Amino acid sequence: MSKMSIRKRFFVTMRGFGILKRYCPGLAQGKALYELINSIQPFISVWFSARIINEICTQRRAATIAIYVIGVVLTNFIFSILKSILDRVCNEKESQMWSWFGKIFSDKQMSLDFDDLENAKIQHMRQEAEENLYMFGNGLAQLVWGTSALVRSLVNILASVAMTVTLFLSRSGNKVIDNSAWILIVFACILLGGFSNSKATVKENEVFMKWCKDTVWFNRVFMFFGKELYMNPEKAKDVRIYNQNTIAAKVLDKLIQHDRENQTALFKMSIFPAMANIIIGLANTVCYLFVAVKAFFGAFGAGSIVQYVAVLSRLGDGLQELMYVLSDNEVYCIHLQKLFEYMDIPNHMYQGSLTVEKRDDNEYDVEFRDVSFQYPNTGTYALRHVNLKFKTGEKLAVVGMNGSGKTTFIKLMCRLYDPTEGEILLNGVNIQKYDYDEYRSIFSVVFQDFRLFAFGLGQNVAASADYDSGHVLECLKRAGFDERLKTMPNGIKTCLYKDFDTDGVEISGGEAQKIALARALYKDAPFIILDEPTAALDPISEYEVYSRFNEIAGGKTAVYISHRLASCRFCDKIAVFHKGEVMQKGTHEELLANINGKYYELWNAQSQYYTPHTK
Ligand code: ADP
Repeated sequence: MSKMSIRKRFFVTMRGFGILKRYCPGLAQGKALYELINSIQPFISVWFSARIINEICTQRRAATIAIYVIGVVLTNFIFSILKSILDRVCNEKESQMWSWFGKIFSDKQMSLDFDDLENAKIQHMRQEAEENLYMFGNGLAQLVWGTSALVRSLVNILASVAMTVTLFLSRSGNKVIDNSAWILIVFACILLGGFSNSKATVKENEVFMKWCKDTVWFNRVFMFFGKELYMNPEKAKDVRIYNQNTIAAKVLDKLIQHDRENQTALFKMSIFPAMANIIIGLANTVCYLFVAVKAFFGAFGAGSIVQYVAVLSRLGDGLQELMYVLSDNEVYCIHLQKLFEYMDIPNHMYQGSLTVEKRDDNEYDVEFRDVSFQYPNTGTYALRHVNLKFKTGEKLAVVGMNGSGKTTFIKLMCRLYDPTEGEILLNGVNIQKYDYDEYRSIFSVVFQDFRLFAFGLGQNVAASADYDSGHVLECLKRAGFDERLKTMPNGIKTCLYKDFDTDGVEISGGEAQKIALARALYKDAPFIILDEPTAALDPISEYEVYSRFNEIAGGKTAVYISHRLASCRFCDKIAVFHKGEVMQKGTHEELLANINGKYYELWNAQSQYYTPHTK
């Protein structure tokens, strides 16, 4: 466990509170207030009880006793009401706490540059911070719980000191008892108890941190082998056919053994808290002895004995808890620091400010000017010297074999990545100069690996909780989903998949692709990009989509990516990609006329699957 300076810990803790204030408003404050009242209450009861006993043992004035009784009843009543209100508020906030924490991660993920989303190191940072928080409460949740412990310990210490001052000042007439050495011994015992407890906590924390690390790994492997492999019907097919359960069983056995070893280490560590408890017990005995001897020699009355005995043990508790809070703070600061490292990942993509002119005539032209691109940390070019220009309303097809750079071309056009060399222009202006969100809003894309969610069909199409039903229906129709829609039990309100709704419907890959197409149409952006839109469709549905492509895309500028050349013939212009380069450009007829070109070669290779065999 790397050590952090006290100063750094202070700043990390304060920043943690700042995040709690922003994402979980009122939670830490509510907890602190609740604990303040909760911890003060017993002191008030003890104080009143001591006064009542002293009065009964001395002057026995009924009015004074009545005032004390009313005082204790009233304060307890008010405190109990306040506590129950705060308890309700805090419980509600604490139950929402985990969802609020989720928002911290989703906000950051959404604001990350796209290449960081694909960066394994960064995603590992997120995963580790998320797993630590959700599995053990490490970091922010510890801070919430630690707030209660901090307030409790401070109240216990301050109130105890205030209520035991008289113990050390009162005179018994016996010199031996009034000797200040006693005071030193009592405090030394209390501090020793607290110190040994904090040592025990530090030792426990060391084992706990290791255990957390192992358990995170255990959980990841368990989720994969235990949940994914066995529970996921798609994967369960492979597991059964290839008997993969034997590998999984071996890994799970290893994990169980590993966990057993960890438990043994944890068990061995319990010796430290046990020793701490013995020392604390001895310290308490010395304290009680001090009170008892002083009382024996007549330093104070019976009521005060009750007060000192009750309060001294709380002073010990308070000190021990404060030590615990400090060592716990060391642990959660390490986790908070890791969370902050993830939250502080900067956006390195240039953020322009130009507004994208929303043109009524939809006149937008895009130009790739000598664009080359390498994915981060790969050292190889996915695109090389791409020069392409296309105009509003044009239908551009991008064809090429798998891995030729088609999807990368789209990612650059949508500015998910910036070119390594060269520039991309929209209406003659480098796209980096435009406001990022505005620029992205002019594109509707159906990516090859698009995702639909287990929400209602309408919500999926609109990508929003609220939607215009008429527009959703129209887009589904244009995407060719109208026939299937008729069989959906609740129309566009039908839930997709069964994750959240047992009445949800399962859909085929082809149907999902049509819904994704409808989603792109719903967005109604001037550019529509379809990346292998027919990959999961059967040949008939594929034919249906591309023969109606002009109708589907309407007057929009459309980019149609496919490795199936037959589906690109209807486009105004075809760009043939090969190994990251644009090898040819032209119409279908022009390209086919060049019998030495890549297009001709690909066309002939594929046409045998589409045209009857003549041999
Ligand atoms: P296509 O869409 O034509 O199948 P891609 O654009 O997906 O091709 O890929 C072009 C090249 O870039 C391939 O060599 C591929 O392995 C590589 N590539 C694609 N995505 C990534 C990525 N996220 N990181 C690193 N390399 C990638």
